[in-house]
Amino acid sequence: MAGKITLLEDDITELKVDAIVNAANNSLLGGGGVDGAIHRAAGPGLVEYCRTLNGCDTGQAKLTPGFDLPADYVIHTVGPVWHGGNEGEAALLANCYHQSLKLAAGQGLKSIAFPAISCGVYGYPVQQACDIAVNTVSQFLSQDSCIRKVIFCAFDQQVHQALIQAMENHKLH
Ligand code: ADP
Repeated sequence: MAGKITLLEDDITELKVDAIVNAANNSLLGGGGVDGAIHRAAGPGLVEYCRTLNGCDTGQAKLTPGFDLPADYVIHTVGPVWHGGNEGEAALLANCYHQSLKLAAGQGLKSIAFPAISCGVYGYPVQQACDIAVNTVSQFLSQDSCIRKVIFCAFDQQVHQALIQAMENHKLH
């Protein structure tokens, strides 16, 4: 199960996997950070398609084609904004990973790459977010036989280091 998880420091828009996950906002109509990068790389077909989806609730996920991306699909999930930790942020963030994997497995997808959801403008403490990411994905993979590869794609060294630490922390449990 741990062998199915890979850490990368890369631009997620360049990955040729079955699906990349977008850290979107509730409108699903594009934004900054990884969301902006994915929309730029996918081309205008993505926002046109997203207009038909009626947005997405925090902690939930929706699937679209990848359009001009090397990835076949984009799974759009909406992470929680960090408000100090007492507003259900941890459960919502775990749900983002769980719902994205559930959607991918339901489509028969085998490889999926995640950015560090909520770790940019949404302000989630990076190490806490990475621990939730690794624990939630590991738990899902232990009960699923469809998904063969999960990539955690960090865009900066801080997230990459936090993911390495999260993998270590997970092994200790
Ligand atoms: P959120 O609003 O969920 O916080 P952001 O896009 O602001 O989302 O940031 C989430 C994470 O995505 C951050 O760690 C940011 O550095 C990272 N990120 C930004 N651009 C890319 C990219 N092209 N590929 C992968 N990760 C990216």
